[in-house]
Amino acid sequence: MRLVYEQISEAEMIFGMPLGLRNVPDKLVWHFTKNGTYSVKSGYWVARDMMSRQHADRARSSTNGCKEVWEKIWGINAPHKIKVFMWRAVKGFLPCATNLKQKKILEDSRCWQCGWNNESVMHVLWDCLKVKKIWKKTFLQGVCRVWQEPTFLDLVHHICSTATRSELETFCFTAWWIWRNRNLHRYEEKSLEPEEVA
Ligand SMILES: [Zn+2]
Repeated sequence: MRLVYEQISEAEMIFGMPLGLRNVPDKLVWHFTKNGTYSVKSGYWVARDMMSRQHADRARSSTNGCKEVWEKIWGINAPHKIKVFMWRAVKGFLPCATNLKQKKILEDSRCWQCGWNNESVMHVLWDCLKVKKIWKKTFLQGVCRVWQEPTFLDLVHHICSTATRSELETFCFTAWWIWRNRNLHRYEEKSLEPEEVA
């Protein structure tokens, strides 16, 4: 009964949408690329993504995701400092502006790089517009503008269940470089170009 009601509401909503006045023919648009055109690469990522989401949902419900993520990160070929950095990022322990404001060390929680009013771990490592330029130069170029996760743990969990081990290593190195670049920019007023980071 509820399902029927929801379907009727949805249909009413669709029929209630105003149509444009111009008589433009219908066009098929691929939702997963910026220009709406299908590419084999984006199709491959969507397929991998769908399978990994099912797997991730099951894992998250049993272990809250963290244990599995940590085991994967611990297993990558990377210096200890990068693994520790990832652990702190996943746990939300990085001293980003939002965390420093919560501890009353900073008054302003805005992002220094783009002005967004809440520089969380997720923002500084993934959501920031400046940072997207860097992710666009990695294997995540096709999805970095599409994937939106509530926390960095969710994002890393998604990557862990989608990417290969060497891709996961690239992800961890890149996240570390982004954090280092942000600190250089903030505290030493120097910044690395995306070409230097990627
Ligand atoms: Zn920003």
